[in-house]
Amino acid sequence: MPSTQTKSGKPDLFFDYHTPFDADETGHFGSYGGRYAPEMLIPSLEALDDAYSEAVRDPQFQNEFFYHLATYAGRPTPLYYAENLTKKLGGGKIYLKNEGLNLTGAHKITHCIGQALIARRMGKKRLIADTGAGQHGKAVATIAAKFGFECTVYMGATDVARQRPNVFWMERLGAKVVPVEFGNKTLKDAVNAAMKDWITNPDAHFLLGSTVGPHPYPSMNRDFQSVVGMEVRDQISKAEGKLPDYLIACVGGGSNAMGLFYRFLNDETVQMIGVEAGGRGTGKLGDHAARFAGGRVGVAEGYKSVFLQDESGNIASSHSVSAGLDYPGIGPQLAYLKEKGRIEVVAVTDAAVLEAFKLVVSTEGIIPALESTHAIAHAVALAPKLAKDQVIVVNVSGSGDKDIFIIAEALGDDKWRTFLRKTVASYDAQK
Ligand SMILES: *Cc1c(COP(=O)(O)O)cnc(C)c1O
Repeated sequence: MPSTQTKSGKPDLFFDYHTPFDADETGHFGSYGGRYAPEMLIPSLEALDDAYSEAVRDPQFQNEFFYHLATYAGRPTPLYYAENLTKKLGGGKIYLKNEGLNLTGAHKITHCIGQALIARRMGKKRLIADTGAGQHGKAVATIAAKFGFECTVYMGATDVARQRPNVFWMERLGAKVVPVEFGNKTLKDAVNAAMKDWITNPDAHFLLGSTVGPHPYPSMNRDFQSVVGMEVRDQISKAEGKLPDYLIACVGGGSNAMGLFYRFLNDETVQMIGVEAGGRGTGKLGDHAARFAGGRVGVAEGYKSVFLQDESGNIASSHSVSAGLDYPGIGPQLAYLKEKGRIEVVAVTDAAVLEAFKLVVSTEGIIPALESTHAIAHAVALAPKLAKDQVIVVNVSGSGDKDIFIIAEALGDDKWRTFLRKTVASYDAQK
């Protein structure tokens, strides 16, 4: 927790931090962002913006936020010097910010705590969320259990069928998981169903899970996640006596990347790299989730940004080995930072991710999420080109425990298959 008292005795507000890359009053980052939502949602978004703007100026809110981060989420998470990996690659020093040690195994719990506290201030009793693979839904269900909210999670019926472990936990945590039966029955349809619920029930809080969507979500979730960068500043200063030369994070919607980057945007010597999902590596629409390689500017899901779209401007489907990066849009502030040249964005293929995964697990004993492994894969490629005193910080946004089904399959682990078959057979025998 940061000190809440300055030398002058006035409260030192964590959230009182600004950069030249922030949104204007209309929520625009340059031409990106904004609030392109149905008319009926505007009052709810305005009320949320007011509550959030007021909360971040309140030292009491800040104290509560940091209290729950420390006692519940498990912050600060360690910044780990990956000495074995560094020596093996023979270049710059690699540090891993281990966000996988947060409750629920990823960075997501941080902005869920922030929004839950805002919702409580607003007197809300129910949380609405949409989820694709179920990671966000699980984090929302967790926070709903802790703070006593009712919780409805919309999930495409296709996703419900293929993501049973997350659905199982959401239900145990007390959330109502609603399978969405229209469209492709995946994330896009879940987003629409959740929006519809919020329009009908403005007394609920819509808990959006990344730095995307209409204003104020991109700025609000960034502010909550910026705790990560603040922790890193502190930790790297103690370990190295200087700021990092490079920050690397994977980019789905952008919350873990903005969380790591934001508090360094004013430090010109710090270079930042966002890593997108290059998927199958063919560059074909539908085979990847690299918005900056194959996307165009457009408006969807309430905001203006770069989206993967077909020729007629419909949102295209994306692919990645990691569910969390498999998203056709990107946070508007990241689009703006890319346009301004403040960040670089690269793409890493599924195949390179699996190689990096094997390397980091066997050299460091850390099992990263497949999403985060995109960032690690780029660090593995970059480190050998750097001098030994240069420092890279990689955001390991989550733990890979959740990815056991995908990884076992991708690595062709026959013993895992046998285990699944035997488990199913023993269930069937009990019938
Ligand atoms: C959800 C998720 C992501 C992608 O979301 P961002 O908003 O881009 O951070 C990345 N890593 C992990 C582990 C996730 O669970």
